[in-house]
Amino acid sequence: MILLSPEAETVLRARYLREDETPELLFRRVADYIAGAEAGYGQNAAQAAQAYYELLASGTFLPNSPALINAGKPKAQLAACFVLPIEDSLAGIFDTLKHTALIHQSGGGTGFSFSRLRPEGARVGATGGAASGPVSFMHIYDLATQVVKQGAARRGANMAVLRVDHPDIFTFITAKRRHDVLNNFNLSVGITDAFMEAVKQQADFELINPQNHTPVRTVPAREIFDLLVQMAWENGEPGLFFLDIVNKANPTPALGLFESPNPCSEQPLLPYESCVLGSINLTRLLTANKGQRVSLDKHKLTRTVRLAVRFLNNVIDINSYPLPEVTEATRKTRKIGLGIMGLAELFILLDLPYASQEAVQLTKDIMQAVTTEARAMSAELGRERGSFPAFADSIYPRQGYEHMRNATVTTIAPTGTISIIAGCSSGIEPLFALALTRRVLDGRLITSVNPVAVNYLRQQGLLTQAVNEQIALAGSVAGLALPDRVKRVLATAHEIEPAWHVAQLAAAQAYTDNGVSKTVNLPKDATCEDVARVFFAAYDQGCKGVTVYRDASRDEQVLSHGVGC
Ligand code: ADP
Repeated sequence: MILLSPEAETVLRARYLREDETPELLFRRVADYIAGAEAGYGQNAAQAAQAYYELLASGTFLPNSPALINAGKPKAQLAACFVLPIEDSLAGIFDTLKHTALIHQSGGGTGFSFSRLRPEGARVGATGGAASGPVSFMHIYDLATQVVKQGAARRGANMAVLRVDHPDIFTFITAKRRHDVLNNFNLSVGITDAFMEAVKQQADFELINPQNHTPVRTVPAREIFDLLVQMAWENGEPGLFFLDIVNKANPTPALGLFESPNPCSEQPLLPYESCVLGSINLTRLLTANKGQRVSLDKHKLTRTVRLAVRFLNNVIDINSYPLPEVTEATRKTRKIGLGIMGLAELFILLDLPYASQEAVQLTKDIMQAVTTEARAMSAELGRERGSFPAFADSIYPRQGYEHMRNATVTTIAPTGTISIIAGCSSGIEPLFALALTRRVLDGRLITSVNPVAVNYLRQQGLLTQAVNEQIALAGSVAGLALPDRVKRVLATAHEIEPAWHVAQLAAAQAYTDNGVSKTVNLPKDATCEDVARVFFAAYDQGCKGVTVYRDASRDEQVLSHGVGC
């Protein structure tokens, strides 16, 4: 019998379990299906299936949701992330819209750059009329997404990127000011180094028509930046996607440039590439030596990374892609995105505040270990099964690699659902609250306090009934008379200084091939200067992107509209 939290049971029952399927059977189904690929390499599939089952059923590693939902189905689509190109032609725009619908139907999320589209008002050759611009087409994509609800799986999710030098950038930045539109989209501005330099120098910046690459007008860079900051302050969007930083890390520049990541922003992809993600639950990798504090078990971590890389490679082999273009692009680079979850709870278990230099260093060390071991495993698989087809033209031969099965190995996903199934905190985020309130079947609300936090307090002899009740009420220990260290270890997302959020994001990014999903939380009374400081810090520390969320800003959107910060 697998022990699952009530939240995990609810999530599994809602969307993941088939008729008459128990959680055990779900994990068997996934393990058997993915291990099936081993047979193609003359390996022992039954042995691999058992190892994968133990990994999944113990909540030590889980692949992204489409793999859990679709494994075993005919033509199973197992990847979460896709990026599609949008050409500057009516046929191109609607071809990609059709492709998007097919990907959503299969359970995947899609990212696009709308930057190639000519701006609003530009001439349309075929009709002699005026173009309606990228943002107008985003609304069509949004509506199509809304209509193509994905059966029992999930509604589609999209990312739209617009380059900061596109003439319609102001319309794009304010596109979600009305909060009843573009609800199936996350927005990110594609930021260039030239733009950041112009902002720092208070210089003017050219907006360029992508149709003919000619400048349309010049504006002070600050005008764009300030509006971006204002909108992010108002409701958390758009985020920033640092194009030049991302492209400097492109492992296959000969195949093209990155224009957009996937919906939650952690996975930059070339047009038509897809990526399968998987995450290791760090709270399952602890070892407790007699009389000593618990510590992260390096041996368990290594073993888990190796198995996970093998698992994700099998997923690529047996995945059934929704479009031939996607099959081709994905098989050329064979990108996988192995990441971590449960980081915040690991810190609590190790008695470390999330906002501390020690914890930031540990994040870096963990991701360095994960990426190093994942690369070693990928090189080993490359030797056994062949390198990814675009290897010769990639950055790896110049770095001394003779083989590599995957162009990238690591990504840190949000793990929105799989962390609930695994019963740990999501991705690398701090705990959002120490207590969770949920509605049970008869409509009653039940509040449960985070078990890791409860244990931490119990071990310190601090878990009185009053403390427990206060946490259930406030979701935090900030207002309690507890030792300062305990309050720092149990600090929740909005109590942690934004600079520490950025420090953790940058630490995780330092050793992650692809991107890192993370929201930088700001207190409700944060100012626009605070938001700007976060954007500069993320850029200066080499992050590939950044998203902020100011506490309660979406709730007060109507009130704050037009008021400014
Ligand atoms: P999970 O925990 O369900 O595996 P994550 O929260 O880690 O998923 O998200 C990973 C990626 O999965 C996202 O960046 C996105 O590409 C895709 N994704 C997430 N939610 C959806 C959705 N509702 N529809 C389509 N794709 C999604």
